[in-house]
Amino acid sequence: MNESYEIEKEALLVERARIRKLLLGVGHPHEDDQYDFDASSEETDLEFPDESDRASEIEDFSSRVILEGELEKRLLEVKDALHALDIGTYGKCMICDVVIPKERLSANPAALTCILHANVGRERSSQL
Ligand SMILES: [Zn+2]
Repeated sequence: MNESYEIEKEALLVERARIRKLLLGVGHPHEDDQYDFDASSEETDLEFPDESDRASEIEDFSSRVILEGELEKRLLEVKDALHALDIGTYGKCMICDVVIPKERLSANPAALTCILHANVGRERSSQL
C-alpha cells in the first residue's frame, strides 16, 4: 500500500457519500443492495407533503427517473473504482492501461479510463 492509497480512497468515499446523498433526494435505496436505488414515486415520497409541491413532483417524476439513473451509474463507477483501488489497478485506464492524468482523477475520482476511452468506459458501465 502506498501513501496515495489512503488519499485516493478518501476521495472516492467522499464522492460516494456525495452521490448517495443526491440519490436519496430523488429515490430510495434497495434494502438488499445499497448501490441500487429506485426513483421515488409520489405515493411513497414524504418530502413534499404540500399539495402544490406534490403536483410539480409528479411532473418531475420522469426527470427524476433519468437523474436517478445517471446518479446510480456514477455510484457504480465509484464502486468499481474502489474495487480497482483494492486490487491495485486504480489510476490506470482499464482499456489501454495508460496512467490516468491526476487532473482527470481529481475532477472525477471514479474515472476508470483515460480521456481517450472515456466513452468506452461509460458504455461498458451502462451495459452492466
Ligand atoms: Zn485508455
